[in-house]
Amino acid sequence: MPAWCRILTRGYKILQDFDYDLFVIGAGSGGVRACRVAASLGARVGVAEERYFGGTCVNVGCVPKKLFSYAAHYRDDLEDSAGFGWQIDNARFDWPTLMANKNKEIERLNGIYRQILNSNQVAVFESRAVLAGPNQVEVAGQHVSARHILLAVGGWPAIPEFPGNEHVITSNEVFSLPALPDSIVVLGGGYIAVEFASIFTRLGVDTTLIYRGDRLMRGFDHDVRSFITAELGRSMNLILGDNIAAINRKNNGLQVHCQSGQTLHCGLVLAATGRTPMTRNLGLESVNLQLTAAGAIKVDANFQTSSPGIYAVGDVIDRVTLTPVALAEGQLVANSLFGGPGRAMDYQNIPSAVFCHPNIGVVGLTEQEAESRGLAIDIYLAKVKQLKHTLSGRDEHSLLKLVVDRTTDRVLGLHMVGPDAGELVQGFAVAMNAGATKADFDRTIGIHPTLAEEFMTMRSKRKLHD
Ligand code: NDP
Repeated sequence: MPAWCRILTRGYKILQDFDYDLFVIGAGSGGVRACRVAASLGARVGVAEERYFGGTCVNVGCVPKKLFSYAAHYRDDLEDSAGFGWQIDNARFDWPTLMANKNKEIERLNGIYRQILNSNQVAVFESRAVLAGPNQVEVAGQHVSARHILLAVGGWPAIPEFPGNEHVITSNEVFSLPALPDSIVVLGGGYIAVEFASIFTRLGVDTTLIYRGDRLMRGFDHDVRSFITAELGRSMNLILGDNIAAINRKNNGLQVHCQSGQTLHCGLVLAATGRTPMTRNLGLESVNLQLTAAGAIKVDANFQTSSPGIYAVGDVIDRVTLTPVALAEGQLVANSLFGGPGRAMDYQNIPSAVFCHPNIGVVGLTEQEAESRGLAIDIYLAKVKQLKHTLSGRDEHSLLKLVVDRTTDRVLGLHMVGPDAGELVQGFAVAMNAGATKADFDRTIGIHPTLAEEFMTMRSKRKLHD
């Protein structure tokens, strides 16, 4: 922002009665990004956080989960190394070491988030805040006023209703387990369920995954779903088409009664059954703020809620519940309110990774989405064995799939199940956002020998519906 513009902005603010130009409730990914960007544009910013700086992602989500996932991968690496001549005796996993190191890293990140706020002169309230009327927030026993308010309060794990559901833990508690159980039942077939089932089984926990559907990862491409369901079924006890009916304590453990009638015994049950927006007791009634049927805050294209001057971003709205999306939304709101560079939020081609083992990485349309839009498409599909596994002896394959628009030749969807799929798909997402066609893929020279080069050499179309 030019200097004259800043002076005008500040002069204008002095004429206002508000304590803050922007007050943010929630210092997670979206909230902190909005604070930083707004402050850098000259706004007077306040933020309230009642729990932990950095929100779900940093404290009980993406970051510690990925650290656990690395820990779990060492089992595969140790096993695979034997075929390459390594003899590693007496390898032993120590949960307290992982937990202590993880906690240290999360504390460090908490500190960085605080530092971002402090160094941008954001007023920080380590307290719960609620809406108290238009332009009004109640925080730490006082009323503050703000020209704009941003709700970035996130989501919370949802636990299904059944007798004994008080015995389950969620992804909130899984990051502070004092000890690993001998056995675990994971309920759910989405992101968190498949990631944690993959982690626990590799850390030596006898793992059962129960999913009510017939294929894991609803919403993903059907080929990806079938493939990952089969892959996970080989490393854990996978129960499909069933659900938990009740849980009771028995002999220092838990007895899980399934709807099918079967009973399982385990040390711990993890419910990974979705997350709900944290809209309860937020004072929404004081501003007559509207929610969707699913309890998320309704927003328009500019993230404005039904109440003027109040905005919402991240997991509390009904869009895409991924950290990088919340960051982009928070940045966009701050920019549009305080004169930063304008850019509409683009929800097309958002890449996403699931850190189960093997990883899933996807960007763009599934075959089913393309079909439901009435598009004429070609499908390219490959199942390959990674070079590494010729010596490791591991019976693991990778899946690669392209969905191509037959009329324009554009690559509409790219799907992969395989090692480091998240790392790999990120680059392809750039190409797809730039409008890459199948011909562009074909004329690109592959890097040999890699798994990714398979995307350059996909020649034969799959007959649809085979
Ligand atoms: P998901 O929505 O991904 O999965 C929820 C799962 O729970 C589904 O399989 C669903 O079944 C099942 N389920 C829901 N209700 C019940 C019930 N009453 N009984 C039995 N099963 C039930 O949610 P998650 O909790 O796994 O994750 C929440 C969100 O967090 C994700 O959607 C994602 O946006 C984000 N996330 C992203 C990660 C990443 O980027 N790697 C990692 C972790 C989370 P059904 O399919 O039949 O509906």
